[in-house]
Amino acid sequence: MSNRRRICYLRGMEILIVGAGIGGLSLALMLHARNIRCSLVEATPELRPLGVGINVQPSAVAELTMLGLLDRLAATGIETAEVCYYTRHGQLVWSEPRGKAAGYLVPQFSIHRGQLQMLLLQAVRERLGADAVSAGWEAVEVDPDKGEITLLNRASGERRLRRADGIISADGIHSALRRQFYPDEGPARYSGHVLWRATTIGKPFLTGRSMVMAGHAHQKLVTYPISRPHAERGESLINWIAELAVPGDGPPKHDWNKEVGLEVFAGPFASWTWDWLDVPALFRGASNYFEFPMVDRDPLPRWSHGRVTLLGDAAHPMYPIGSNGATQAVLDARVLADQIAGSLVADLPSAFERYEADRLPKTANIVMANRAQGPDHVLQVFEERAPNGFSQVHDVASQQELEDIAAGYKKIVGLDIETVNAKMRAYSG
Ligand SMILES: Cc1cc2nc3c(=O)[nH]c(=O)nc-3n(C[C@H](O)[C@H](O)[C@H](O)COP(=O)(O)OP(=O)(O)OC[C@H]3O[C@@H](n4cnc5c(N)ncnc54)[C@H](O)[C@@H]3O)c2cc1C
Repeated sequence: MSNRRRICYLRGMEILIVGAGIGGLSLALMLHARNIRCSLVEATPELRPLGVGINVQPSAVAELTMLGLLDRLAATGIETAEVCYYTRHGQLVWSEPRGKAAGYLVPQFSIHRGQLQMLLLQAVRERLGADAVSAGWEAVEVDPDKGEITLLNRASGERRLRRADGIISADGIHSALRRQFYPDEGPARYSGHVLWRATTIGKPFLTGRSMVMAGHAHQKLVTYPISRPHAERGESLINWIAELAVPGDGPPKHDWNKEVGLEVFAGPFASWTWDWLDVPALFRGASNYFEFPMVDRDPLPRWSHGRVTLLGDAAHPMYPIGSNGATQAVLDARVLADQIAGSLVADLPSAFERYEADRLPKTANIVMANRAQGPDHVLQVFEERAPNGFSQVHDVASQQELEDIAAGYKKIVGLDIETVNAKMRAYSG
């Protein structure tokens, strides 16, 4: 087929994306870059910058750079320079450079999740049109053979039927379309741990661009700055997550925006005052604390059903360990956009299956690796072998063992430097 004819075919194709989160918006930009018509429906009536900090790995930053968004990312987030692991006594057990400092041609970014979403939304509206996202429309049911979807406007009660050649369910961890395909799956699987998330304005610690994991498998702190220091006051917005084991069924609801008081979780961290960070003071400096049970779901046998497929958290929700939620959604989007671009309307179900064959096994491995603590496993090694601290790191674990823990996880999540850099070199020509 000539290129010209193929472009005509591509332009005749209509893709509907359900969910204007990080994954859905990234996919829309990638489809647009490949001349494929698409639009989005989003349940929330008004998209606002919700959430706290996340990290976007170089593999995903490379994809967003190819969409021309590097400058906007750099203006919004900060480049993560290193990742450091500390015991609950504040002793360093492992650190490694990240992003450009580790040899990638693109940075790793620490960024506010809501600001990243707004940045992508703005680019979608500029490139696809102001009306590309229909907000306030919730997907309730889909006919995967006909490519028809029923949408509900909760405010007015109005229902609409829409048709598309392909429908992408990027509607997050509580995906309505996933539920339709897997009605017996039930609620997300509780890990036995609860997370409390917040941001505090304060002096950045260590390099000022360090991401810190401290504690052990049953009590942990994750913290990193997500804004550049203020020119005069030197303060940044510092993201933090406190995690505690809470056996049982866990809090009943997993809502990203449920607020609780500091007294609910701060007690066990009262003694975590180290010479480089005062954790109780960090906690007190925040004004809103969001509680979220740590949940995921079992990997699915398949994501694609006729003209519908799943993407991002709808396909593979995972524990927020190793900074992969947003990154893997962007990587899904890249593979799916390529498969759609190489397909004709009639062959879209096969294109979805090829996308799934690539991405399902990879993301299933990450879901399982995160259940085993991912790279944070190193903290538990030190907690078990040296619960009262140590004088030399290598009295507790050899350099080789530490390197193996870090390298093992990177291999699973596809953080291979050469693959990312080869993509960037090809892009820069
Ligand atoms: C409000 C919010 C806050 C978050 N905060 C954090 C955070 O602080 N830290 C963190 O690590 N991760 C956070 N996440 C999750 C993180 O964004 C994802 O893990 C990751 O970015 C993968 O993105 P996604 O696009 O697959 O899913 P999401 O980013 O969850 O996006 C899914 C989108 O689909 C929409 N949607 C849901 N149901 C329907 C439906 N039936 N019809 C139409 N639209 C629907 C949602 O409103 C949302 O906009 C948050 C997610 C949300 C929705």
